[in-house]
Amino acid sequence: MSNLDMENALNIWQKTLEHLKTEIDDISYNDLFSKTKEVFKVKDSTIWIIVDSTLTKFRIDKFYKNSINDFALNNFGCHFTFIECKEAEEQKSKVDLVNTTQTDIENSKKPRSLLPEYSFDNFVIGESNRFAFLAATKVANDPVPVLNPLYIFGGVGLGKTHLMFAVGNEILQFKPETNVVYTTAQQYAQDYFTASSSKDPKAFQKFYDYYQSADVLLVDDIQFLEQKTKTQEEFFKLFELLYTEKKKMVVTSDRPANQLQNFMDRLKSRLSYGLAVDIKKPDKNLRLGILQKKLPTHIPNPEDVPIEALELIAEIYEDRNVRELEGALSRYIWYCVSANLPFTKENVYPILEPLVKGMGKEGAPADVKVRDIKELVASYYQVSVSELESESRKAKIVFARQMAIYLIRTLYDLPLKQIGSYFGNRDHATVSYSIDKIEKDMKQNKGIKQDIIYLTHKIQGEK
Ligand code: ADP
Ligand code: MG
Repeated sequence: MSNLDMENALNIWQKTLEHLKTEIDDISYNDLFSKTKEVFKVKDSTIWIIVDSTLTKFRIDKFYKNSINDFALNNFGCHFTFIECKEAEEQKSKVDLVNTTQTDIENSKKPRSLLPEYSFDNFVIGESNRFAFLAATKVANDPVPVLNPLYIFGGVGLGKTHLMFAVGNEILQFKPETNVVYTTAQQYAQDYFTASSSKDPKAFQKFYDYYQSADVLLVDDIQFLEQKTKTQEEFFKLFELLYTEKKKMVVTSDRPANQLQNFMDRLKSRLSYGLAVDIKKPDKNLRLGILQKKLPTHIPNPEDVPIEALELIAEIYEDRNVRELEGALSRYIWYCVSANLPFTKENVYPILEPLVKGMGKEGAPADVKVRDIKELVASYYQVSVSELESESRKAKIVFARQMAIYLIRTLYDLPLKQIGSYFGNRDHATVSYSIDKIEKDMKQNKGIKQDIIYLTHKIQGEK
């Protein structure tokens, strides 16, 4: 990010804050981020933000930094580091913090924004990404480029950038002198624009030197070049050059090359020279594997979190991407830690509920579960679902209704009021009464206890 100065760094931070505001709850936001208005320094593509205390820094680093940096990286090609205000003061008095961004980039072979924590080692493999993973490791390890470029495509948050970084990191690990150049297509377009509008006669040369000197070129989210004809032409030249010089290239995109719109045919065909691999949404096994892998980065004692809780998160996050899945894990851990709640399976739903609901998709998981339970209980007691939801006071129906309410509460721990809403808007006192009633009945009547065991197994077994 050659033109990153303090002012646009602050701008980027403000945009990131706006995004965060929509992602996390108000209390955490106000607590942690409302006072973070100062940039401490900028170096390469790292922006230091001052925070008010060590605790705030700890909480941000632990629970939010990854997703903040995902966002910043994807949107602005930079990332954030947080520094506590006292430490910032001390450092300020010691060093004269000249903003050396430009020279730093020119003098160093260090890649921009290639986050070291994205490696092959911590990439969890499943059916949906196996082929992409294998291709990426092959590209990283081939002495000369065979599959050039490697074109990785798929929806957001599925691990494209992760894999691309892993290629860069792997190459650097064995050949640290390699000039790995990472850029987002957006950044590339910006650099090109800056060079063309600069008064400095050497600006273009610097732009060319920077990209043409790449031994490995990693370009993220190439779809951003859609409609940017001039930049496409420029990129085409760069591509041709590096290709002829047998420099490895990895490109990511949200869709296959032939589906890029307003995109030069020549460039589309170049992008298809090598190998195209796609990443799909993770299945439940992979989601669970990822949660298990990420857990130790969230808490010092990962063994405190039972596998059942992770399984439930993986299950609720059906049809979601990995980034959302990670967000769910952070939230769960953070709530349990801060409210001193045990890491139980029962606490998963209440904590994730606002996120799950916020997704606003038809048939949100809680609704689906409730519907399943209603259907099961209704058929078991030979009543209809609409009777369960009705005003009817017939003993048989009342009992089945109470049972459904009891099961929903004990299995998913939804708020009473919400449960009431699934049964013709009954108030929370009625819901609470139903639960007490079944608990009482169950103690006196063995048959009811057996019903509960049977129905619970049925519900859990069918998950
Ligand atoms: P994309 O570039 O496809 O939008 P990212 O590479 O930024 O997605 O991935 C989003 C987040 O999900 C990152 O934190 C990344 O580490 C994580 N992630 C995605 N896939 C995997 C995986 N298979 N194993 C571990 N982490 C993953
Ligand atoms: Mg990405």
